[in-house]
Amino acid sequence: MGDGADGAPDARVVLLGPPGAGKGTQAQVLSQRLGVPAISTGDMLREAVAEGSDLGGKVQGIMASGALVDDATMAEVVRERLGKADARQGFLLDGYPRTLPQAETLAGILRDAGLSLSAVLLVEVPEDELVRRTLLRGRADDREEVVRERLRLYREKTAPLIGYYGERRLLRQIDGNRPVEDVAAQMLGVFGIEGIGTEGI
Ligand code: AMP
Repeated sequence: MGDGADGAPDARVVLLGPPGAGKGTQAQVLSQRLGVPAISTGDMLREAVAEGSDLGGKVQGIMASGALVDDATMAEVVRERLGKADARQGFLLDGYPRTLPQAETLAGILRDAGLSLSAVLLVEVPEDELVRRTLLRGRADDREEVVRERLRLYREKTAPLIGYYGERRLLRQIDGNRPVEDVAAQMLGVFGIEGIGTEGI
């Protein structure tokens, strides 16, 4: 896999961090700059719910309670999405993987394609700020007890991925408690891209 058509490096990136850390916003910024799609499993599932598909019916109640959708269902969703043409040159995964088995599934999907991850960006934000931001967002699953459940599951199921990717030398720590453009600049720095403004985003 060489450079993309526009000279940007291939980027196969996982955005890791608690709910409310700003991963979705940053995924949009990075997607523009790196020329690879932002793939949010949460958005995909919300679309499925809105469409009333079989998948939507299966996940609706789970999402509303703040619980995690099972790993096998998520494996199907992600395998299909990463198989699409626009993900060939790279991708930014927002919200996947969220468990160790999901990380193994992702590694397997990439291995089968002769690929590997470029980096895992860990977006760090203090917990009181997370709760504040999430409650401001006002999404259907942003009621306080649901927010707290999502944070609890993050600590229990997702935080172990920090060690997993750290051991694999893929982890890059990003200070997410900064203005959007500063966070984006830190992330772009990981890919050797500097001095680009965020105007037009
Ligand atoms: P998000 O938009 O990433 O906060 O995801 C919203 C909800 O979708 C989560 O609270 C889960 O119920 C579900 N979800 C999204 N991604 C995953 C995943 N990788 N594994 C399990 N559940 C997920």
